[in-house]
Amino acid sequence: MKARPQNLSEAVFSQALRDLASVVGETNILTVPDRLREYADPFRPQPMAHAFAASAAVLPASIDEIREVLKVARTYRLPLWPVSTGRNFAYGGAAPRLPGSVVLDLKRMARILAVDETLAYALVEPGVTYFDLYAYLREHGLKLWVDPAAAGWGSIVGNTLERGFGYTAYGDHAANQCGMEVMLASGELVRTGMGAIEIGQSWQLFKGGFGPAYDTMFMQSNFGVVTKLGLWLMPRPERCLIAHVKLPGEADLEAAVETLRPLKLGETIRNHAVIEGAVRHAAGVSSRRDWYDGAGPIPDAVVDKMVARLDIGRWNVHFAIYGDPSVVEARYAIAERAFARLSGARIEANRYAPDTEPVGGSERNMAGIPAMSAFRMIDWRGGNGAHVDFSPICPFTGRDAMRQYSVAKARLAEYGFDYYGGFTAGDRHLHHIVATIFDRDDAGLTESAADLQRVLMSDARAEGYGVYRTHVATMDFAASQYDFNDGALLRMSETIKDALDPEGILAPGKSGIWPRGWRDKRGDI
Ligand code: ADP
Repeated sequence: MKARPQNLSEAVFSQALRDLASVVGETNILTVPDRLREYADPFRPQPMAHAFAASAAVLPASIDEIREVLKVARTYRLPLWPVSTGRNFAYGGAAPRLPGSVVLDLKRMARILAVDETLAYALVEPGVTYFDLYAYLREHGLKLWVDPAAAGWGSIVGNTLERGFGYTAYGDHAANQCGMEVMLASGELVRTGMGAIEIGQSWQLFKGGFGPAYDTMFMQSNFGVVTKLGLWLMPRPERCLIAHVKLPGEADLEAAVETLRPLKLGETIRNHAVIEGAVRHAAGVSSRRDWYDGAGPIPDAVVDKMVARLDIGRWNVHFAIYGDPSVVEARYAIAERAFARLSGARIEANRYAPDTEPVGGSERNMAGIPAMSAFRMIDWRGGNGAHVDFSPICPFTGRDAMRQYSVAKARLAEYGFDYYGGFTAGDRHLHHIVATIFDRDDAGLTESAADLQRVLMSDARAEGYGVYRTHVATMDFAASQYDFNDGALLRMSETIKDALDPEGILAPGKSGIWPRGWRDKRGDI
């Protein structure tokens, strides 16, 4: 069935598409189902198969074209869903929250506008991927690193706006963003921070500017179309040391977290270190059927066997230290001593200089090299593999991590899934990422995967935890959990939304924020 914006008749929608085509050219407006396939959620869990269908995609090539597209959208109250490259896999891909929206695909705008080696920053357009910027830095012999997201093919703008993360010391993408150019729904172009000074010298250097600062307001929101984004880059270190700690027991998660926290807070370790469960580690080198082919979750005894056979830990800590070799070695000695105190811990480290680099995907990400190995996980279960992620924020304590792990593991088991997860370390919090891996050709499993997400989120909420990101299908659900003072935060977001976008054309429903004209669609999937 062909999707269409619910507020427009077939005839009016066709006219709107003709108007859009006159802005971007016939070839840059996609309407046939074959061409729209790439805008469907590649990992969609049932029963939402057609719930997030785009009606068309429009691909402008410039700011002027975006302005004209917005004008058409305002005229017809045509809902647009902006994406940069639309590879937000596991959270919906390029699929819009409101069915029938037109995807505003910005991938043709892919210029790297500036890279400054002295002050270590870049300014990019939405279509620039981590691979692109990495290649550019290499080609120009610049001594700077990117911090790639787990899958390097995605865009810097999309990942940063979603508060995605990577694994070097610049792993917190939102924190290392500085300065934006945004087009509002009205067509007005705004530069944030120091960029508001014409021919500014410090746009990518100081976030604040003068007066209120707005960059984060455009993250996970629907308040504007981001057309340029500044980011800080890490100076290429003289040495990169990547360490791996293997811990034998399931309960060792608590000690791992307690050991890592002071090292992170004290800045002995500065990267986004990772503590990953055995199954996630094993999935990088094997398939589930190598270990277990029965029904239900993989039994603990089998996980123990897998751990022994693969010579991995029940929990595996990976961290990196960068800098001058003498500093790196001094810091590593401190970290090594701390982890060596844990019973049964085994630790090893690999060292890389600028002219040598790691081969495996997870080490490459810690060395600032984009990779695609993250997608191996979808083969874990076999068949038509896909995953959907539950991503609660966890306080950086062993007790909280154990609690989140145990509750999630039990729930996953109840629904027939393995605990496939891990924790990525901020300074005071952990991103706990739990992937539900399923086979899309198995209808029962796919449906369970979808149902499970709400249950996991409710379990977390009952203990005061919330998710930092979620699939388009659960955006309203997640937003409703942020309920202090009867949902005052969401009310404020919707007040801002109505002020900036009175026609409600930009991404209705994104992050649970609905413009006035579409508010009756809340929760409707
Ligand atoms: P990636 O390119 O990393 O795959 P996406 O393009 O899928 O990321 O973007 C992720 C989400 O971020 C989108 O669904 C959309 O909500 C938002 N987004 C992406 N790019 C823009 C942009 N240029 N302006 C406004 N919102 C955007």
